[in-house]
Amino acid sequence: MGRSNELFERSQQLIPGGVNSPVRAFRAVGGTPVFFREGRGSRVVDEDGREYIDYVGSWGPLILGHAHPEVVEAVASAARQGLSFGAPTARELEMAEVLTGSMPSMEQVRLVSSGTEAVMSAIRLARGYTGRAVIVKFEGCYHGHSDFLLVKAGSGALTFGNPTSAGVPAELASHTLVLDYNDPQQAEDAFSRHGKDIAAVVLEAVAGNMNFVRPSDEFIHTLRRLCTKHGAVLLFDEVMTGFRVGPRGAQGIFGVSPDLTTLGKVIGGGMPVGAFGGRREIMQKLAPVGPVYQAGTLSGNPVAVAAGLATLRRVLEPGFFDRLGAATAKLVQGLESEARAAGVPFSGASLGGMFGIFFRKELPASFAQVMQSDREAFNRFFHAMLERGVYLAPSAFEAGFVSAAHSEADIAATLAAARAAFASARG
Ligand code: PMP
Repeated sequence: MGRSNELFERSQQLIPGGVNSPVRAFRAVGGTPVFFREGRGSRVVDEDGREYIDYVGSWGPLILGHAHPEVVEAVASAARQGLSFGAPTARELEMAEVLTGSMPSMEQVRLVSSGTEAVMSAIRLARGYTGRAVIVKFEGCYHGHSDFLLVKAGSGALTFGNPTSAGVPAELASHTLVLDYNDPQQAEDAFSRHGKDIAAVVLEAVAGNMNFVRPSDEFIHTLRRLCTKHGAVLLFDEVMTGFRVGPRGAQGIFGVSPDLTTLGKVIGGGMPVGAFGGRREIMQKLAPVGPVYQAGTLSGNPVAVAAGLATLRRVLEPGFFDRLGAATAKLVQGLESEARAAGVPFSGASLGGMFGIFFRKELPASFAQVMQSDREAFNRFFHAMLERGVYLAPSAFEAGFVSAAHSEADIAATLAAARAAFASARG
């Protein structure tokens, strides 16, 4: 850790908190963030040359593992042909074909450069399409850092929200209604009170920013029905789950068709790509054909799109998710049985290559329940795993990711480390 410590000291002088995105700073778990020098397959190597089995995968994009040779080659060869044109390219069309071909609810799609941008643009589009202002979101879901989504619940369940960040004017938060995840009755009540003003309901179709919370069938079908009935746009934020939980995202698994979908992470294979798309009638409201403005100098960047296409080519091969899902389930089941043997209250779940682990006995269904897990135990477990060469997300509220590069031996080594780490988690 010597060099990470030294680099972190220096970084803090020049970069706020020493990091370019807050969760990287290890504030939740304590200690010094690890600075990485390289990654290969399932492994990352820090600045001191220590190797770790990585379950963060750059927070989701690296579903094939680090520096997959085909992705690296696609990037190198695209770069040789030019880094950016700011004009249409055949590769963007190919990406649009792959995305719309995989996700039937997406009749048209537009590329952007991050998940934040995808959701921000999709919300503007939903507002432009409906001519309404109100956005419904759910506590514990994260949709990027645009102003009107950095909002927590107001004083009552059906009152408008308050900003969670300084710098967000209260007026912007006042168009956002924050409800409880997995509470269909509350959604019914919100629509009966505000239905004619609601432009969109936005949700993570599996919530990965409060660790890992699945929607109930009743919840997700109620939202579909309410949006249809009241003429609101149902927006699935699949930035994390798209091409991560299955080839058609969470919507393919739950059998619900949203009006708009946002994508990011895996579709860029580790490069900056986001996308939003959905029903043609809605997408036709976008400039230059419609009145809703949206643009980007580097949107559809040829090098970034090449990385995404090379990644999706592998991800869409038959059997990919059977293998990935089995490896991920094996990891989670193994962790559960090690925790049981150590007498640690613990639960875990997974879908495709995404998983959640909780230091509480039962799987949570809402943000309030997630908050009841033992964060101190997680933090001790996190550091004990890190010492043993396993890199987990440095927060009890983040989902974990397994890649196609994680071998049986990696999973076995992780479970061996967990055996010792659970003993420390017990405190
Ligand atoms: N939506 C979801 C569901 C996400 O998980 C994230 C990022 N973790 C975002 C949006 C924002 O994406 P980005 O960080 O690429 O802006």
